[in-house]
Amino acid sequence: MGQLYIDGTWSDAAEGGSREIRCPADGRLVGEVSEATAGDTERAIGAARTAFDDGRWSTVAPAERGALLLRVADLLQRDKDRLARAETLDTGKRVVESEIDMDDITNCFRWFGHLAASDDGRLVETGVPNARSKVVHEPVGVCGLITPWNYPLLQTAWKVAPAIGAGCTFVLKPSELTPHTAIILMELLEEAGLPSGVGNLVLGAGATAGGPLSTDPRVDMVSFTGGLATGKILMANAAATVKKVALELGGKNPFVCFADADHDTAVDNILTGIFLHSGQVCSAGARLVVEESAHDRIVDDLVERAQRIVLGGPDDAGTETGPLISAAHREKVEAYVAQGVAEGAVLRCGGERPTDPRLADGFYYPPTILDRCTQDMSVVHDESFGPVLTVETFTDLDDAVRIANDTEYGLAGAVFSADHGTCEEVAGRLRHGTVWINDFGPYVPAAEWGGFGHSGVGRELGRAGFAEYQETKHIWTNTRPGPTGWFPSSTTGSGS
Ligand code: NAD
Repeated sequence: MGQLYIDGTWSDAAEGGSREIRCPADGRLVGEVSEATAGDTERAIGAARTAFDDGRWSTVAPAERGALLLRVADLLQRDKDRLARAETLDTGKRVVESEIDMDDITNCFRWFGHLAASDDGRLVETGVPNARSKVVHEPVGVCGLITPWNYPLLQTAWKVAPAIGAGCTFVLKPSELTPHTAIILMELLEEAGLPSGVGNLVLGAGATAGGPLSTDPRVDMVSFTGGLATGKILMANAAATVKKVALELGGKNPFVCFADADHDTAVDNILTGIFLHSGQVCSAGARLVVEESAHDRIVDDLVERAQRIVLGGPDDAGTETGPLISAAHREKVEAYVAQGVAEGAVLRCGGERPTDPRLADGFYYPPTILDRCTQDMSVVHDESFGPVLTVETFTDLDDAVRIANDTEYGLAGAVFSADHGTCEEVAGRLRHGTVWINDFGPYVPAAEWGGFGHSGVGRELGRAGFAEYQETKHIWTNTRPGPTGWFPSSTTGSGS
């Protein structure tokens, strides 16, 4: 059974609880894992607190912390097949997608390894002859790391690698639906030589196992990736003990397509942007905002191609996309589509569970397109987190930008046009954390990831993603100390 990892020791949950993990593609039993309660998490926080306060990791030289991350990267590559298989069984996604994730995760550890090793302070010009001023970085402290189920180990890596690199200690709580790669990661951290107590793992339900991470005063920072509603709860909880908060939340990402864009390239990118991983991607291009004059030919082709995307399980030959994560999530997506139709959207394809008996044991939902949507519809504003594309049209550039920015979220967006000036202008005016020009989806660990508006607080990846796990300290040294003379009256006659 998959266990908790606390203070360098693997153990069952104190109350003995456990949870079965089943593959969403076919319901097969993948494994059983311990189910923590708040007491387990409090114990893990205690271990992380002690490990931080005694300096066993925070005082280790940055070069050594970086070297450990590079060793972890090597181990991740060594165990890539095992990790990819575990990720696939937990999520139902294709093995090839999990393999790509594992390569990205390795690169993430490598990048933060190099950054951590080269992290040093800087001298600041004071303009005062007898003073030296230095700015240094120190770890934030104990971090509560809470991650979702769509890219389980990837989202975890984006937090664990910088936390370790910066010298923090942490308690990780992965999604209760997809725990297995987090368990393997802890094994690899142990093998790479991370001291006991620095990295701790609790498994289980959000509010129960994860609750103390945003309320316990011994936690200095909570870094969360997940839904907006949960993010608001954690932010409110964290206020009571003034924790640092980093939030990566949802998105309702616009794909702005001008009529002069290359047709085949645009259609292909729109399909990938929304239907990759069955839409369970925070940066999915869920809102097509297309120039009215190109609407018919683009949407007709999208509908035709979307219907031919092959659904299936990880072991089915020819599978192009997998299931949704759970029965509850599929019901949420179904309700979302029904709401769109009730609001007047035109259902062009999908919208019903597949009848193929091959798919009967999984939570499959087909690529779905809701056409002729307008900004007043809830489906245009709410995140479905499923394979559902809404289509709106625009008449000119200002109109396109207005529609694209008319969202409480601001995670990512794309613009497609043959005109470079058009692309640059739209990219400059989009209020989103990532903008792709004539492309959709790529990211690199060196570039920051995160959202404007309700898509989050702070950044992951990049230098800013490292700085989230650091406190900045200014050290001023007076090299020729002497009296200030500020209160001359009080000093008159003194010493006589
Ligand atoms: P979720 O908010 O339901 O759960 C996320 C994590 O929070 C899970 O581990 C869950 O157990 C935990 N949790 C839930 N309630 C909690 C509580 N009260 N205290 C502590 N922990 C709690 O989200 P989800 O359904 O797992 O993930 C989907 C969401 O994640 C989508 O909205 C998606 O957009 C978002 N997401 C965002 C990014 C990004 O980079 N911005 C990346 C991936 C996913």
